[in-house]
Amino acid sequence: MDVILLGTAAGGGFPQWNCACRPCRTARRDPASALPRTQSSVAVSADGARWFLINASPDVRSQLALIPGAGPRPSRELPVEGVVLTDAELDHTLGLLLLREGRRLPVLASPAIGSLLEREGGVLRVARAFADAPFTPLEPGRAACLPDRDGAPSGLTVTAFAVAGDPPRFAPDAPADGATTGLVISDGRSSFACVPGCGALDGATLERLAAAGLVLFDGTCWTDDELISLGYGARTARAMGHVPMAGPAGSLAALAQLPGRVVYVHINNTNPVLIEDSPERRAVTDAGLTVGADGMRFSL
Ligand SMILES: [Zn+2]
Repeated sequence: MDVILLGTAAGGGFPQWNCACRPCRTARRDPASALPRTQSSVAVSADGARWFLINASPDVRSQLALIPGAGPRPSRELPVEGVVLTDAELDHTLGLLLLREGRRLPVLASPAIGSLLEREGGVLRVARAFADAPFTPLEPGRAACLPDRDGAPSGLTVTAFAVAGDPPRFAPDAPADGATTGLVISDGRSSFACVPGCGALDGATLERLAAAGLVLFDGTCWTDDELISLGYGARTARAMGHVPMAGPAGSLAALAQLPGRVVYVHINNTNPVLIEDSPERRAVTDAGLTVGADGMRFSL
């Protein structure tokens, strides 16, 4: 199984177009000391030929170029087999609209995410005006085969599982349950977990992550009050559905105990771990974890 990190930044990308925080300034001044990153997305394949996107970011156009063999086809069809979503947030779903020329655009996600995209967000509804976009619900906790474009087994199974989180800001009254999920994807021999948004690391979630050879995990903020202290918002990271990395109850301490490789993704542009020589980056690497960067590739 091959896994490619197509984009490792949170919404807004890195540097964010309107942001002058320290990491964003560093990335503009000296990109080698704070690598620019596109918005959160992953590609996975069992055979190196048929790929699935995990989340469709607003940067999907440039991200497809990172997938081997996913170039233009004579029939203009989508160069991937389908899109699996972890939530309905805009940084994970706006790419569906950009893929509308792909004729057929299979989307898989939990029923709660499907409902958000059909109704409140409207992304699927709009995409369907242009493409055949069938939606397959993934019942949380139940493994499902990922079919390729022809309906044949791709060699991958996916299990969505609900994690702590909040519904998207465009649907504040939608039920939170099942609106944020993690995915475990397996080829029968090995598995990896993709959890780009997670508001709390409880025992059940850690147990799932401990069984995966590779864990891609929410690296949005370093501290819980990061956006508040910078004057960029009134909500804590946890209140926005993202457990921070630092501190005794942070993700770094918990994830360092896992047996598999752990890579942070969905990193917000304010997070100092984005600066290559920062003490926060050193704390992550000293704990044995990796700060994800676009184009990183893992073979499991
Ligand atoms: Zn910034």
